Amino acid sequence: MTRYFRLRENNATVTASFDASHKWGLPGVHCPTCKLTWATAGLLYPAVDLTHLPERREFERARPEPFAEFARLRELVRPLAPPNALLLPGTLFGPLVGKASGDFGAFTSLGNLPWVVRKDAFERLQAEGIRGLLGGPTELRFRKKNPPELLELQLEPHGQLHPDCIPPDVPPPCELCGHRYFRLPDEPILDAASLPPDLDLFRVGNFATVSVVTERFMHAVQRLELSGLTFHELPTR
Ligand SMILES: [Zn+2]
Repeated sequence: MTRYFRLRENNATVTASFDASHKWGLPGVHCPTCKLTWATAGLLYPAVDLTHLPERREFERARPEPFAEFARLRELVRPLAPPNALLLPGTLFGPLVGKASGDFGAFTSLGNLPWVVRKDAFERLQAEGIRGLLGGPTELRFRKKNPPELLELQLEPHGQLHPDCIPPDVPPPCELCGHRYFRLPDEPILDAASLPPDLDLFRVGNFATVSVVTERFMHAVQRLELSGLTFHELPTR
């Protein structure tokens, strides 16, 4: 039985910071069905590159759009995204662009969403055979000389929280835009049958702000003494 852990930043060990945002994104949406205007948080595809998309400028500014316009833009990105990628309003792509300062350890995050990793740490995890390890470039600018080489991990959405995590009075997702809101329980439980059997890191498919790793990933990080992460076990059912 694989054990799973929620990934969080370890503020006690991180001495670096960055102020950056992703280069491209899908707009938010005004949905004519559920009447909401919204954008998701946590769907990040840093390895998806829109550089060669003629319409790339339409992905540079965050704003809500009518559903039809959102859907048009989503179809432009789909061929560049991983197969069957979840592409909700507000999904972000490409490198983090902005300023960085301080001494970067192995891992640094901003609110447990983007996971920035030093290239040397990434390569050591690769050598350990971590499954599903994928890094995208970053465009973080430093004032100092010899800045570290930094990547951002691409954690793709897979699996679900167990249905018991969703209060019974929460309506099903909107048929048009996919919107569904519920609060993350204090002790989330993963739906065992839905979890990807061949990945050591991913985001929860119906709660993408939750980053999950296997014990295999955790043990590799501990063995290599890579800094910046804490692990909290998530039960499965
Ligand atoms: Zn909707």
